[in-house]
Amino acid sequence: CGIVGYIGHRDAYPIIIKGLQRLEYRGYDSAGIVLFDGVDTHLSKTKGKVEDLKKKSESSISLDGKLGLGHTRWATHGVPNDINSHPHYSNSGDLVIIHNGIIENYESIKKALIKRGYSFESDTDTEVLVNLIEEVKKKEGVKLGKAVQIALNQVVGAYAIAVFDKNKPDEIVVAKLGSPLAIGIGENEYFIASDASPFIEFTNNAVYLEDEEMAIVRIGKEIKLRKIKDDAIA
Ligand code: GLU
Repeated sequence: CGIVGYIGHRDAYPIIIKGLQRLEYRGYDSAGIVLFDGVDTHLSKTKGKVEDLKKKSESSISLDGKLGLGHTRWATHGVPNDINSHPHYSNSGDLVIIHNGIIENYESIKKALIKRGYSFESDTDTEVLVNLIEEVKKKEGVKLGKAVQIALNQVVGAYAIAVFDKNKPDEIVVAKLGSPLAIGIGENEYFIASDASPFIEFTNNAVYLEDEEMAIVRIGKEIKLRKIKDDAIA
């Protein structure tokens, strides 16, 4: 399983597809991609190979977007199928997430969210996490980075995640515990991946997140690294 992300001035699509192919050695059963053109998101996902995802995407969605996330899934919760493949949206449609790992306490969180009116399309633990982030963001009135931090403090499990908000086209929030996550730093562009292989041809300046570390990756700003357990984040 693997994750790839891009935000910058290039078209995200070829970078992400090539990156997912380089991460194929990690093993997976499904693949997906979301591209964000600043107004709309374009989502494509499928059970099967990255090559299948490429064919499906090129025949069915707009490939525009200087921000994108790609994922190869190794199913833990929910069978391998198109719907359970990542990325996953929150109920409002504003937040989009990719996740490698397992949220162990997802059932109790899911029940609490259903009581608050949330509904779920997939059987994944990941869709629970993105809606928990949304609920925290609304309830606490905080920014995405803070919402991710608060949500992850309620979660038991392992993860490498990347999430963005359609209302914030210049930012991706990432976090890691257990699964690997690297950030490649270019000029006015950032790459995110499970290892450096998807971005090695663009930059050799990389930061590897530690466990329980998160980062706010924003165009035009230096990366903000934070401890997930540190409550000083604004
Ligand atoms: N637990 C998540 C799922 O089953 C992510 C699996 C993975 O690491 O790819 O969808």
